[in-house]
Amino acid sequence: MASLFDNTVKRLIEAAEYVDLDPGVLEKLKLALEMTQARLSIRMDDGSIKSFLAWRCRHDDSRGPTKGGIRFHPDVNADEVTALALMMTSKCAVMNLPFGGAKGGVKVEPRSLSNTELERLARAYIRAFAHIIGPTRDVPAPDVGTNETTMAWMMDEYSTIVGKKTPEVITGKPVALGGSLGRDDATARGAYYITRYKADALGLKHGARVAIQGFGNAGQHMAQLLADDGNLIVSVSDSKGAVHAPAGLDVSELRAAKRHGESVTSVAGSAGVSEISGDELLASDCDVLVLAAVENTVHKGNAGSIKAPLIIELANGPITPEADEILEARNVLILPDILANAGGVTVSFYEWVQNRQGQSWTLDEVHTRLKTTMEKQTDAVCAYARDKKITLRKAAYVLALARIAAAMEALLKD
Ligand code: GLU
Repeated sequence: MASLFDNTVKRLIEAAEYVDLDPGVLEKLKLALEMTQARLSIRMDDGSIKSFLAWRCRHDDSRGPTKGGIRFHPDVNADEVTALALMMTSKCAVMNLPFGGAKGGVKVEPRSLSNTELERLARAYIRAFAHIIGPTRDVPAPDVGTNETTMAWMMDEYSTIVGKKTPEVITGKPVALGGSLGRDDATARGAYYITRYKADALGLKHGARVAIQGFGNAGQHMAQLLADDGNLIVSVSDSKGAVHAPAGLDVSELRAAKRHGESVTSVAGSAGVSEISGDELLASDCDVLVLAAVENTVHKGNAGSIKAPLIIELANGPITPEADEILEARNVLILPDILANAGGVTVSFYEWVQNRQGQSWTLDEVHTRLKTTMEKQTDAVCAYARDKKITLRKAAYVLALARIAAAMEALLKD
């Protein structure tokens, strides 16, 4: 199977056919600007010492300081981190944020560590990469397996190293430490605003039946927003399994189970709720399929079973290029990751701006700005898709490439 980075580069190459580009632009984007690997060694609670591999990749900084999350996951590797960094370069360009792209990762199962061990690991990460990150160089954020507490430890460690309080070095912090209101549900909310704005074009009716793969931060908030808006969440999965209820699942009950460290499958057995497999979730009879787990979950082996006419990519890279072709041939509409899940990094940008200005915006202000930005860039992507008769994914990459190329070429003008 092609690597995730190769698959992502392929999407750029396909998009490049539709932009009048200096070939040097594409050549640059095929290579990451800077990739650093480190070994993080921490003392465990039992006194032993354990070492973990860690990475930070800055993919491209043509449009500004690099930006992207840090992932704690047992499958993290250098190829994945580089691919996700390239997606961040593209995502920030689609949203027209003054950022390039980056990503970090630690190869660890965070659930196997105690809180004190996690804190040592988060601080060790910053000690290893403090010379790479910085408020106008590279600004990390949460990703799979990390959260606002991880960001708090990391900000504190960085501030200690440089000898001054530096909240703007990292986003996704707790509000009490300079985090932005509205950052917690921003990834899901951005996608939700698009679905409301484009409901007619997407064929979305009130009371739509929704299946959600992945019930972490993005999946849970999306379930809540859609359910509160009168839609039915009919299937939900996490890494342990999936549940289905034709009359709709109780989202509060599911979220309470997750808060207590249980799987969504713990609600199976409640009235009308049955346990299903992850493959059955993908094949659910529904109007919308939300992919909110990790990359490559929809591939050529299962793409054909999907019944939903609309897919929303809240995860990064959940559909392989082969699966894309199968779905396109069947006219399944896909709201692509670099647009659909860009609400997270957009509110990260707002957090960075607030920190640099010493301000804090109201929740209303954050929501209004996010809604306006999501709608504006969705219109820009849709216009490319219509004019060039291409998919929304291709159109999003075309828009990203055009903006990145403009920045690179502006530097070359004499
Ligand atoms: N990890 C998130 C993403 O993949 C957020 C990145 C950020 O806020 O910088 O978009």
